[in-house]
Amino acid sequence: MKFRPEKLKIKDQRMKPFIDPDEIWEYIKTAKASKERVREVIAKSLDKNRLTLEETAVLINARDKELVEEIKQGARKLKEKVYGQRIVLFAPLYVGNFCINNCAYCGFKSSNTQITRVTLEKEDLKAQVKALEDTGQKRLILVYGEHPIYDANFISDTVRTVYSVKSGPGEIRRVNINAAPMDIDGFRTIKDAKIGTYQIFQETYHEPTYAKVHLGGVKKNYEWRLTALDRAQEAGIDDVGIGALFGLYDWRFEVLGLVRHTNHFEAVYNVGPHTISFPRIQYASQLNIDKSHLVSDIDFTKLVAILRLAVPYTGLILTAREPSSIRDEILQFGVSQIDGGTNIEMGGYAKRKNNENQNIDLEQFQINDNRSLNEIMEELIGHGYIPSFCTACYRLGRTGEHFMEFSVPGFIKRYCQPNALMTMVEYLEDYAPPPTKEKGYRLLQEKLNEMENDGFKEKLVEKLEQLKQGKRDLYF
Ligand code: SAM
Ligand code: SF4
Repeated sequence: MKFRPEKLKIKDQRMKPFIDPDEIWEYIKTAKASKERVREVIAKSLDKNRLTLEETAVLINARDKELVEEIKQGARKLKEKVYGQRIVLFAPLYVGNFCINNCAYCGFKSSNTQITRVTLEKEDLKAQVKALEDTGQKRLILVYGEHPIYDANFISDTVRTVYSVKSGPGEIRRVNINAAPMDIDGFRTIKDAKIGTYQIFQETYHEPTYAKVHLGGVKKNYEWRLTALDRAQEAGIDDVGIGALFGLYDWRFEVLGLVRHTNHFEAVYNVGPHTISFPRIQYASQLNIDKSHLVSDIDFTKLVAILRLAVPYTGLILTAREPSSIRDEILQFGVSQIDGGTNIEMGGYAKRKNNENQNIDLEQFQINDNRSLNEIMEELIGHGYIPSFCTACYRLGRTGEHFMEFSVPGFIKRYCQPNALMTMVEYLEDYAPPPTKEKGYRLLQEKLNEMENDGFKEKLVEKLEQLKQGKRDLYF
């Protein structure tokens, strides 16, 4: 289904702001959430159509317990239909926490004198990457504060360094970035370093709230940030991630802001964002925010289910900011990527194996899921999920407008699931302790049994055999 920009009050133009707060509030105030209408909207989404702002507002306004359960049920169904049982795994790696901005919610803000400021030296960065590879990670997201020292050249150098580190069978095959907005030239420089996704969160789409919580530095400029990923697209980065920091303003407004951002990209660049993130505010050193918009667990799980239904083809990322109980629940209805074995202390991975003794003075905020990568792998496998470290599409240039994995019939069955299984087997062979290995191979067998006996299955079985014999990095 194509988005119809003529319905919006602000016409979409490249690199121009696109949020009209009155329009968003109008939808929230007027969308009627009758049983019939909510069911109609869920059905539309289950047909794999992206929802309009009005339809998303219908789901937002559904308060009846039974209807909310139907929304979650719909999200579960849609997830299985679109993504199958795969969950992609990654780890964040903090490169530097110097920052010129003064974001009220963040431990790295310039006014926080309690925090220890660090930029990883090249050798330290390599040590971090080696430690991550030694646990089995293949996909990283590099995170930076906003500071003139972290310019496009610096970021590109760190990306190249990360790709250069090989430890035994370990290597990082995809490096994503979460860093401050750049100009078009800066984005071109980063693209040349072969980044995967460029992720920037708007934090809040509500401009007055944005002004209240961004008290200094470049980040004060709402429009520069709002149009950042347009500039990335102009520079040829067609793989971008958006997000909102939930807890700054009314969650209903932020959900519609994210959907509006998605349809802006579709209208102007003919491709939606690759991922949406929905971090919820966590405790941070010197946290200083108005707490009236903090989002409850009940609203949070509902909003993730709504996002799943609103943008069926966009990956949803859930991080270790959330405790394992919430992560486990939300995984069922719509999340496609999670981090595992996360340690966000500067230099933390090489220092110790888990996050047991968090040092909040070295961290941006507190995380709540301290499980190791292996613990997460074992749990995912135990629940029938296929943990995936797949990087095939990005490395084969299957990204952006030219390629939507979902527009090719049978793509997931033919490529995504087999690739996920192969990366799982690499993990089982190279890093898994015996209990995980045993469970993993059992899951593999189950999935193979479920597959039709067509040419694809044969090819997969052949490749799996090669993996067991020591070949690596095989994909379709
Ligand atoms: N400095 C860059 C920026 O602001 O875009 C890059 C990354 S910042 C380190 C990553 C994200 O962490 C922010 O965009 C924000 O959404 C999130 N974040 C900041 N403080 C947080 C907190 N207290 N709890 C949860 N997430 C937080
Ligand atoms: Fe700096 Fe980003 Fe933290 Fe803001 S969120 S203080 S820009 S690191």
